[in-house]
Amino acid sequence: MIIAYLGRNVNDYRKNFLRYLAKLKFLCPVCGSNTGLHDSYDRHVHIDENIEWIVIQRVICTGCGKTHAVLPDFIKPYKHYCAADVEFTLRDIEDGAATEQANTVASTSTVKRWVREFKNRGFQAVGALRALLHNVFDENINEIKLTGLKIFGALEHVLDAFPTIESNSLAIGDANIWLTHHMAGIYV
Ligand SMILES: [Zn+2]
Repeated sequence: MIIAYLGRNVNDYRKNFLRYLAKLKFLCPVCGSNTGLHDSYDRHVHIDENIEWIVIQRVICTGCGKTHAVLPDFIKPYKHYCAADVEFTLRDIEDGAATEQANTVASTSTVKRWVREFKNRGFQAVGALRALLHNVFDENINEIKLTGLKIFGALEHVLDAFPTIESNSLAIGDANIWLTHHMAGIYV
């Protein structure tokens, strides 16, 4: 899976995703070789009260032969919800809101699962982003600056050190764009 900026929303994506894809170049997150367009499949995503179907393009690696789905950053990987809904819900809860009061169409049990997974993966993603920053951009984040920060604060602090990219400007989305372009299997 590779996350990329492929439009502002479902409508933009539907109309223009092939144009966005044509502007981007993906290296295989597993082996680093070039990739080319492969096949596509349909998946659904919950946008507010609606279920929308979109086409997802896959690329294939010229080196190892693995295929990678290229997902727009406005959807959350492996979740059928839009990334903004998930992020704003998680931010509210991190700021102290009760799970039951979350302003989302997702059920309370779904929200509890989001929170649990975010707690498991959030700081792991911060660590992976720091490693990436060091390996790719030769930049280091001072550990002290991260002390006491919650997950979103830590993610934002680390993301600030990366170059600006075109995206939907979500912390989770931006983290996933960087992570999935460079590493396989690490995302938040
Ligand atoms: Zn490969």
